[in-house]
Amino acid sequence: MARPRIVVVGAGFAGYHAARTLCRSGGGAEIVVINPTDYFLYLPLLPEVAAGLVEPRRITVSLPQTLTGVRLILAQVEEIDLGAREVGWVDAEGRHGRTGYHRLILAAGSVNKLLPIPGVAEHAHGFRSIPEALYLRDHMTRQLELADATDDGRERAARSTFVVVGAGYTGTEVAAQGVLYTDALWRRHPRLRGSRPRWLLLDTAPRVLPELAPRLSRTADRVLRERGVDLRMGVSVAEATADGVRLTDGEHVPTRSLIWCVGVRPDPLVARLGLQLERGRLAVDEYLAVPGHPEVYACGDVAAVPDLTRPGQVTTMTAQHAQRQGVRAARNVAASYGSGKRRPYKHRDLGFVVDLGGREAAANPLGVPLAGLPAKAVTRGYHLLSLPGNRARTATDWLLEAVLPRQTTQLGLVRSPAVPLDTESPELPALPH
Ligand SMILES: Cc1cc2nc3c(=O)[nH]c(=O)nc-3n(C[C@H](O)[C@H](O)[C@H](O)COP(=O)(O)OP(=O)(O)OC[C@H]3O[C@@H](n4cnc5c(N)ncnc54)[C@H](O)[C@@H]3O)c2cc1C
Repeated sequence: MARPRIVVVGAGFAGYHAARTLCRSGGGAEIVVINPTDYFLYLPLLPEVAAGLVEPRRITVSLPQTLTGVRLILAQVEEIDLGAREVGWVDAEGRHGRTGYHRLILAAGSVNKLLPIPGVAEHAHGFRSIPEALYLRDHMTRQLELADATDDGRERAARSTFVVVGAGYTGTEVAAQGVLYTDALWRRHPRLRGSRPRWLLLDTAPRVLPELAPRLSRTADRVLRERGVDLRMGVSVAEATADGVRLTDGEHVPTRSLIWCVGVRPDPLVARLGLQLERGRLAVDEYLAVPGHPEVYACGDVAAVPDLTRPGQVTTMTAQHAQRQGVRAARNVAASYGSGKRRPYKHRDLGFVVDLGGREAAANPLGVPLAGLPAKAVTRGYHLLSLPGNRARTATDWLLEAVLPRQTTQLGLVRSPAVPLDTESPELPALPH
């Protein structure tokens, strides 16, 4: 290597912001980003893509366009040789390659969390990629169109029932946005008049948004109930089949739609490294460096970063932490070449925003609890500021959505086999089958 090479694995919140920071402060180093897609995905707006409010390209920010001077390898890292300081990857056409590094930033994020529940891997769909959001949008549309077409009352009821498992921010937003979407469809199908779509949101926790402040939870609970979402707390799925789910309380719910939002686990890549893990996340010090490997840094969901604001704990898996850790890891890497000063990662939670669709949201910026329109304004403002690109287009989609009827056609781009729940690489481009 003629000049030092910094390799960043993953271009999500952590990796993208690490690479962007290195573009500005990486000195003369060559910066290589390895990621399976040519875009950074702004995950918090994914439920709006599924609900047809925002076009999928709005929440994808082009890597070649915004990471000037960075070499992009469109591939999945399969293996890392810490001794030889090389990463081995496979690209979308199945070609294998190896890239050496002087510094490595691991930011591979997380994948769907699976639980050993019969039938779930076969019948549930996850929700953390563009293909999965497009699939869900088509699927909801198709179910109501098929419900309209049938004369069988039981089939109609099953196709009009949607079950979301996991009432964290993803599941809560999916249910809140989903019920508005299926209501819009339902109003266009007079034959379905007597059978309004039914949504169930399940969680083993005692309340929705269990990981967030109780005030946010109460707002979400109220909004969901007002929309008719059947909240089942302390309940999960015991078994899933092609035509329904059996709940842990024994009830059988006929449905063709099981949406799996039970959370995430760190990308399995890190488990293969033979390094110290904490609950599956790679242990790092407060400088985001891997103990014993000062040339390797890790950040975001994949890393167990000590939370200096809550001694003894690690930072939560949020975009807020991942983005800031990416920037800090990049600066510490630059400092290792003599540019700037190495600093520990420390960030106090600035609050959370949950978009509940329509005019509703729950937010607590700087600890101030908000609901309704003020929360909505804060939530949309926050997302616009946090999106690294496409802000005008996203704002325009929101504006159009406020004044025009929602578009509800199926596009048929993603079929069910292209979005299996059991995958370690959910963001590999899903091609139509
Ligand atoms: C639907 C949804 C909504 C969310 N909403 C919010 C929210 O409102 N607020 C919030 O704070 N957090 C939210 N989160 C969580 C937040 O998005 C994550 O905490 C954050 O994305 C973590 O950033 P990351 O960079 O670690 O991982 P990611 O953003 O997931 O990025 C990981 C990147 O690495 C790539 N990758 C994976 N494996 C490999 C490999 N082997 N080789 C190369 N590249 C690889 C992936 O393709 C991806 O591009 C949400 C998550 C989801 C799924």
